[in-house]
Amino acid sequence: MKQLFEIGDHLGPLKVIHINVPSIDLKAVVAIDNVVCGPAIGGVRMAPDVSAIEAVRLARAMTLKNSAAGLAHGGGKSVIYGDPKMDSHQKEKIIRGFACAIRDLKEYIPGPDMGTDEMCMAWTQDEIGRAVGLPASIGGIPLDEIGATGFGLSCSIDVALDYCDLELKGARVVVQGFGSVGKHAARFLVKKGAVVIGASDSCGSIFNLQGLDVDGLIELKGKGKSVCDSTQGEVLEREAVIDMECDIWIPAARPDVLDKNNIDRLKTKMVVQGANIPLTPEAEQYLHEKGVLSIPDFIANAGGVICAAVEYYGGTERGAFQTIKEKITRNTRAVLEESKNNNLVPREAAVAHAVKRVEEGMTTRRWSLF
Ligand code: NAD
Repeated sequence: MKQLFEIGDHLGPLKVIHINVPSIDLKAVVAIDNVVCGPAIGGVRMAPDVSAIEAVRLARAMTLKNSAAGLAHGGGKSVIYGDPKMDSHQKEKIIRGFACAIRDLKEYIPGPDMGTDEMCMAWTQDEIGRAVGLPASIGGIPLDEIGATGFGLSCSIDVALDYCDLELKGARVVVQGFGSVGKHAARFLVKKGAVVIGASDSCGSIFNLQGLDVDGLIELKGKGKSVCDSTQGEVLEREAVIDMECDIWIPAARPDVLDKNNIDRLKTKMVVQGANIPLTPEAEQYLHEKGVLSIPDFIANAGGVICAAVEYYGGTERGAFQTIKEKITRNTRAVLEESKNNNLVPREAAVAHAVKRVEEGMTTRRWSLF
């Protein structure tokens, strides 16, 4: 499969901005990939090991995601170097400082991502009046709290079942990264009859073939603990989650967790990409050749940004769930049909669908908003 993320191709990035404010320990990168469909919406990620390249690649993923979802928004992403579990006063200082640094970058609307949450977006909104994924108390639709992305993943799976001879009732699910996306995906799938047999987080993984009590794990995570602190099953090392045989495997943590060196360890019928760019192109090609359905990130995990866009235009939580279901159901079917009919890796079909809209936009609009 052709490399689909080429830095500096005809779509972008439009801008990559490095921010350094040593007095408050703020080091960050903002990548704005493309804004022809409208101002870029994209999350703010906080982790100790982020990079500018990660920001650029994730910004491209957002261009494709927002385009595929038919939103009036382009793609961008920010990364802040730091431990997301730092003291909350320090975190507030860094997030507020970051917000001030992007005050004039009006073609970028920040949202929550790994390591940031609704409160971080509230601080950002307070500083610059521009953020999505806000707490309900200030008029937002708290997309992480309601599980917008996890709900979207479950809608995508509903469609994908038709393409891989699988029933959701009794289907064994494994979730890598039991955070905002992973835990809600697990919750919605269990409601529909699936059984979550494995889960992991940054500390390790837990396995129980009879099924894990997802609500119990969510409660544990809510107390700041790890899935490994649960007594519900066998505690294993973090990477053991890759070896757990299942029907549906959901990566919901970091980029490139499956690559050519470990993809042959996966024993599943379907991969549903909750995280952004969790598989390398080689890994996706491998799965396609093995007949394992893999639903690309920007098709399956668009629930969060669709919710953010509904919030931005003053919509309701109910409207957000309806829009997520409509858009993700339609897009998943379109991509899987195209992939089946033309023997394409699903990502190739998805990229063609998304890029077409951006390219059309580029012929009709000015290249940039500034
Ligand atoms: P989060 O911080 O709430 O959760 C991430 C989870 O992954 C945590 O439990 C963490 O412990 C775990 N983790 C980190 N490194 C890991 C590793 N190497 N192995 C296993 N687990 C690991 O983040 P989130 O909001 O759930 O986002 C997860 C992924 O989904 C990211 O790639 C993000 O970009 C993507 N995403 C998030 C949303 C959203 O709405 N939050 C939307 C679309 C895509």
